[in-house]
Amino acid sequence: MNQRPNSLHAADIAYTMHPYTNMRLHEEKGPMIMSHGDGAKVYDTEGKEYYEALAGLWSVAVGFSENRLADVAYEQLKKLPYYHTFAHKSHEPSIRLAEKLVEMTPEGLNKVFFTNSGSEANDTVVKMVWFLNNGLGRPEKKKFLSRNKAYHGITIASGSLTGLPANQKDFDLPAIPVTHLTTPHYWKFAEEGETEEQFTARLLKELEDTILAEGPETIGAFIGEPVMGAGGVMVPPEGYWPGVAEICKKYDILLVADEVINGFGRTGKPFGCERFGFTPDILVTSKQLTSSYMPLAAIVVNDKVYDAIADNTAKLGTFGHGFTGSGHPVACAVGLENLKIIEEKDLMGNAERLEPMFQDGLRKFADHPLVGEVRGVGLIAGVELAKNRDTREAFEPAGSMAAKVVALCAEEGLIVRNVYETVAFCPPLIVTEDDLTEILARFGRALDRALDWAKSEGMV
Ligand code: PMP
Repeated sequence: MNQRPNSLHAADIAYTMHPYTNMRLHEEKGPMIMSHGDGAKVYDTEGKEYYEALAGLWSVAVGFSENRLADVAYEQLKKLPYYHTFAHKSHEPSIRLAEKLVEMTPEGLNKVFFTNSGSEANDTVVKMVWFLNNGLGRPEKKKFLSRNKAYHGITIASGSLTGLPANQKDFDLPAIPVTHLTTPHYWKFAEEGETEEQFTARLLKELEDTILAEGPETIGAFIGEPVMGAGGVMVPPEGYWPGVAEICKKYDILLVADEVINGFGRTGKPFGCERFGFTPDILVTSKQLTSSYMPLAAIVVNDKVYDAIADNTAKLGTFGHGFTGSGHPVACAVGLENLKIIEEKDLMGNAERLEPMFQDGLRKFADHPLVGEVRGVGLIAGVELAKNRDTREAFEPAGSMAAKVVALCAEEGLIVRNVYETVAFCPPLIVTEDDLTEILARFGRALDRALDWAKSEGMV
């Protein structure tokens, strides 16, 4: 007879294939099983408390115990649990959420298309760009420009836009025409003696040279996260985004802001594009849109994009694209209530107000012997670890020190995330000064313990 594992821990190992996991290591190590949440904290099944300073996956703006979202979901499940939005069908939650998104996003972004995830949203963006250029009679205008270390998702097209080796190696990606440009991260990628202005100028020249070499008539769009998130929290230098926007405009290339992490106050402004001074043609949101209580993403486009797509649907008779869950009523009802909570509690203002305390607090670790650079804006930050701050030499093997620090943080009751050499922070927008004080203290203790360990291993 089939022997069934008798604990949750054993059942997880027996039955689950985890995303983003070394599966063989998981068989030995097993899972950390979360039980419940309370505000900015979560608790595991052993009863241990953690500050969740990555907000789940950069997403739980309102914290882990917002009953208003549970109530709204329950009411919607009773009233109309599901309906689709294909072929002229609609329902109130998707209409009201689309209206709200047009109101909240920058001027000029006027129409909304819903998907279930950020990856699906970016795949949809690729197809929108292809579809509209076919409709406009320029079928060669299909290529995308992205950046090394970008994260735009993991489906076939979005995973091609992503610029991280782990998402492409052995997955046969990229599978669509895309060129990845230099990551706009001065500390890591500046050349010897280069000022920040010169670095920005070099990146903008690289962009323009690439467009001219490949031919502007072959390039459909440039996509970028205003602040790069999952690649390691990279804050672009001053002038980078306005420069990119100007070049895209000059060569009639659509500009896509992937605000899946940045959107709804994360950077200290409602949208990252507002923080960095540009207006995209297409803006992609997800994560904080519902605080990830339900899966949902939204693409908001300007009239130029909408009209070109709509004209082509009139020619072809339809837009042959959409998901069963596009504009799901429960997800949209939760999203709308979540945005109301963000506004009522002024959580975007909270991120702006707490920025100095959070960012300065983390920068106090800039002189720590394990730290290379501390960077961030609003309530998103990265602490990059380095063996040698001046030469930017990383610890060996790659990423091991960040993994060690993150493991020690968990022991101290703090969840953060290691992305390559960087420890990433992205706490829920509901955090208070007291929460941040405790988060910084726990991080400091973990960093000091990592230093003791590194010394005992002869690594520093
Ligand atoms: N874009 C960005 C900027 C992201 O950070 C992510 C997820 N981390 C995605 C897209 C993909 O979203 P999802 O995981 O919902 O597919």
